[in-house]
Amino acid sequence: MPQIRLQNLVKRYGHLEVLHGIDLQMAENEFTVLVGPSGCGKSTTLRMIAGLETVSDGEIFFGDQPVSQLEPKDRGLAMVFQDYALYPHMDVAHNISFALRLQKRPKEEIKAKVKEVAEIVGLTDYLQRKPGALSGGQRQRVAMARALAKDSEIFLFDEPLSNLDAKLRGQMRAELAIMRQRVQKNMIYVTHDQIEAMTLADRIVVMSDGYIQQQGSPEELFKHPANKFVAGFLGSPP
Ligand code: ADP
Ligand code: MG
Repeated sequence: MPQIRLQNLVKRYGHLEVLHGIDLQMAENEFTVLVGPSGCGKSTTLRMIAGLETVSDGEIFFGDQPVSQLEPKDRGLAMVFQDYALYPHMDVAHNISFALRLQKRPKEEIKAKVKEVAEIVGLTDYLQRKPGALSGGQRQRVAMARALAKDSEIFLFDEPLSNLDAKLRGQMRAELAIMRQRVQKNMIYVTHDQIEAMTLADRIVVMSDGYIQQQGSPEELFKHPANKFVAGFLGSPP
């Protein structure tokens, strides 16, 4: 059974239709990357899955369950944005454990969880620092750790590396690939960066202008692009 399925997903803002009927199936624990130029509808798709945007037409399924009427908090997912959205007055440990403390989980459990995820993202030595005293890459790690701490089944990433400089982005890309091996969960990752898409994805979904152009494994799309747009975007040889 596919874990996440989008069926004829349409988004309209007033009279303007920005997504024209997206059909997509993701297998369980697959790392799916939505890639395409700015404005093609990647964030809108992700925000609909998260419940941050209403669905104009079509349906989203998690397993057998239609979820488009569920509140974001009832969808069991964690999301990482490009702007981190950290709490500036809290140290790293408290940022990471924020959701767990809201849920009033036992102190010992919270402590163990913070330790576990800090280790995964390489923040063990920074738990007492405030976000203002961290680099961009470290802040992004905190945002990742906070998402991981929630123990969700579904992780959504919207261009998490796009605010980093090229060198750091390369390093974080490699770390993400390692993190992904350790955390076998459903992950949907949005980027306009072809290299990020090619290195991280089990399945790549190439979008343009509110349509899916092609989907498949990175190798499949690179070797057998369905059209000129996909070939040009992924840099396939002519
Ligand atoms: P991407 O993430 O691929 O850059 P988006 O999903 O953010 O693209 O946007 C897709 C299209 O929807 C764009 O043309 C954008 O201008 C439009 N759009 C996004 N949000 C709104 C909104 N709140 N109102 C009207 N149009 C919007
Ligand atoms: Mg976007």
